[in-house]
Amino acid sequence: MKLVVLGPPGAGKGTQAAKLSGELSLPRIATGDMLRLEVSSGTELGKEAEGYMRRGLLVPDDIIIEMVRERVSQEDCKRGFILDGFPRNMAQAKVLEALGPMDLVIYLDAGEEEVVERLAGRRACRECQAVYHLRFSPPKADGRCDLCGGRLHQREDDREEVVRERFRTYRERTQPLVQYYQAKSILEKVEGLGTIEEISWSIQETLESRGLI
Ligand code: AMP
Repeated sequence: MKLVVLGPPGAGKGTQAAKLSGELSLPRIATGDMLRLEVSSGTELGKEAEGYMRRGLLVPDDIIIEMVRERVSQEDCKRGFILDGFPRNMAQAKVLEALGPMDLVIYLDAGEEEVVERLAGRRACRECQAVYHLRFSPPKADGRCDLCGGRLHQREDDREEVVRERFRTYRERTQPLVQYYQAKSILEKVEGLGTIEEISWSIQETLESRGLI
């Protein structure tokens, strides 16, 4: 099964894609996580990507497309995968299409003000990238990751001015993909408002209604 989780920054794509990945035993391919790993490891690719990420802009297609192509060709993707954060523009969507048809695009929707408020409370583990929220899903110990004990921090691009820029980028570059996948009849919209469990439940219902689980 090949799934795409699409939506604005802060709609809960990462959280839901990670949950689905566990439930369906499929790898989650999160381009943002892959890029952050490159940045923290100080690779050439990371150095090139960092400036764009810090400003809330898209990293150039050639970098991302190569990364995704390489990742989906690995053995653990043979049964399928869940894409989180890819595609983010039409050129990427065309490349994905050439790799084979997707079964479903889950469109998690959320508004700008809600996203700005949500991301202000988001914290991520420096070590394993697990995500928490100070109000909605706080860690057990203050500032420490439940899973690996790593230190939690606020992503630099979760500051309000960058979130607004990311949202603008989303509206201009990524939102057109909603119509694109709608026209192919493989898009289902799920309201990104609600608790993690409620949203997860809606996604499960959608997968069931499509006969995918
Ligand atoms: P995310 O964690 O998905 O919010 O991604 C964080 C940042 O990584 C984005 O703001 C972009 O700068 C970059 N990024 C992630 N995925 C892509 C993509 N598919 N295309 C271009 N840039 C990306």
